[in-house]
Amino acid sequence: MNKLQKKKYLLEFVSENWNEVIRLNAEDGNEQDESVIYSKIVHDSPENVENRFIKALSDKIREYPPDNKIKFIGNFIRQINKANKTYLDEIKYFSGESIIPDTSLFRLFQSYSYLKYYPLIRKKLDSYISYIVKDKFTKEDSLRGSITPERQWWDVLRYDITVKPDIENKTISGINVINYKVKDHNSDFKMQIDLQSPMIIDSVSSQKGQAIKIHNEKNVWYADIPDKGDEANKYITIYFHGKPKEAAFPPWDGGWVWSKDSLGNPWISVACQGLGASVWYPCKDHLSDEPDNGASLTMIVPDNLKGISNGRLSSEFSNGDGTHSYRWEVSNPVNSYNIVPYIGKYKNISASYTGEKGKLDIELWVLEYNLARAESHSLPDVLRMLTAFEYWFGPYPFYEDSYKLVDAPFAGMEHQSAIAYGNKYLNGFWGNDNSGSGWGKKWDYIIVHESGHEWFGNNITDKDIADMWIHESFTTYSETVFTEYWYGKKAGEEYNFSTRKNIENTIPVIGVYNVNNKGINSDMYMKGSNLLQSIRKSMNDDDKFRNILRGLNETFFHSVVNTEEVESYINANSGFDYSNVFDQYLRSTDIPLFEFYFESDGSRVYFRYTHCNDGFNLPLTLVNGNEVLRIFPDTEWQSENITSSEKELLDEKLIESLYYVNAFRVKE
Ligand SMILES: [Zn+2]
Repeated sequence: MNKLQKKKYLLEFVSENWNEVIRLNAEDGNEQDESVIYSKIVHDSPENVENRFIKALSDKIREYPPDNKIKFIGNFIRQINKANKTYLDEIKYFSGESIIPDTSLFRLFQSYSYLKYYPLIRKKLDSYISYIVKDKFTKEDSLRGSITPERQWWDVLRYDITVKPDIENKTISGINVINYKVKDHNSDFKMQIDLQSPMIIDSVSSQKGQAIKIHNEKNVWYADIPDKGDEANKYITIYFHGKPKEAAFPPWDGGWVWSKDSLGNPWISVACQGLGASVWYPCKDHLSDEPDNGASLTMIVPDNLKGISNGRLSSEFSNGDGTHSYRWEVSNPVNSYNIVPYIGKYKNISASYTGEKGKLDIELWVLEYNLARAESHSLPDVLRMLTAFEYWFGPYPFYEDSYKLVDAPFAGMEHQSAIAYGNKYLNGFWGNDNSGSGWGKKWDYIIVHESGHEWFGNNITDKDIADMWIHESFTTYSETVFTEYWYGKKAGEEYNFSTRKNIENTIPVIGVYNVNNKGINSDMYMKGSNLLQSIRKSMNDDDKFRNILRGLNETFFHSVVNTEEVESYINANSGFDYSNVFDQYLRSTDIPLFEFYFESDGSRVYFRYTHCNDGFNLPLTLVNGNEVLRIFPDTEWQSENITSSEKELLDEKLIESLYYVNAFRVKE
């Protein structure tokens, strides 16, 4: 029996003594610890442990509001997820130590108790948290997030929006002319128009000028369309006004942003991703329906300010009353939340990029005092971004509408063809490298990340925001390929790996469908990006992988998609069915553990996955120069003959650096 096994047996023995766990925990002054509750329950009786534990837990958090409940259970799941790694690390540590310090012993106990009953509690906790999540949604969320009968019969073709802000009173008034097509002539032509309280629709009229009756229930307005004719193209004109929600912490808490530049001039914009465009203008506020023929936004602003928006400036004129109108037009389909005004003392730097579809116009719209910094800091990274992303993802998707970067009074947002920029002209994110690898300090995070959304988010849009990983995982992966393109493959790998520490694993990446829920935590970013890296490393064919990223942008050009379509595309084009891998990383929260050991003479390796769904089967490809080892582990023990140089490749650290799994050599 080796040292490691001895320690394990010792622990098996001691861990039966739950009183010891409780005592140690109480000494720690932490009587509320869930592992103690759990230990007590197990100690009292081994019957029906998981149900009693969930009951004790739910009693404890009964009074919490839903978001706090989710956070609480989420943290607990996180502890459990960390437990197997903590346990293995501690075991390793102890096997080299003769004296066991108390605090580590407790950590060992705790992780052991989590681990021992892991499958039972985990499943219960997962369903408990998804129950709390589902339970928190209201009728309003369903109206906002689903394709209601009042939405399904018509298809938005175009929005022509006019808005006039009253800067002093922080109110707006406007018009939206919605051009639409009737998809279902058998419907009763009752139309759902979204406009969030306290905004008000004043009137709606048809293209024949008829007044249309409207009534509302909170954020949803219903219009009875009188004219049921067969025309392909129909219009309604909506007049609206009000004091739109002001963003408390844009872009994370959205709404209108009434700001001032550092010289005291008004500087106004909107950030409403997630919250939705209906926070300020009436529309069909659902990602599945983009205006097929684009949109225009006309801003009526004081004479001394300029209005910038998506697409190209199609007209501007003075109104002769101290105001000026700026009309911008997008010719491509666009997400409603992406259509925003930028109003301020703007100046423009023009440039161009010769790319895969010819000449792409670039404009940097900046506050006057940022001109020099935009030229020296932003323009080079914009050009580097376009070079790297056209190589990896294919042509910039909106040549007709140009590429613009616009100074914004908040950190940033992927506003189509008019990216919001508020990164203080610093590398990293406000000067910080979120990855901690050092590579993130070599480029401007907002320019790279928000522009990455032009491909994943704006070109390819998810039909339901629950699938927002399609936007954020691929765009977070864009940071990896940007790093790789300019600093080499190893740099990209280091960047990707370093982001992993920010993954929470408290709740699945995919959110709840039909209630406008984009998930609860931020795992759609880093976890999704690590999923993509794992698939790429597993394929071990960078050209093929790059063609998948390009192919997605070509196949789903200017389209809306769901997770299944993206998964099928990757499965069909990668040469392996990754369905169980997507399931693992998008629909559950375990981190798979790759266990392996060698035959005593080193001629054979034994391996399997644990701490994962049944059927998890991510192939591992390990490469060193010409040496390539590809194995196909699943949850059953398997074995394979290996050479001594292949054996070298089976290294815990190497495996973990390339794949989002924990790796553990179970026997020395
Ligand atoms: Zn993003």
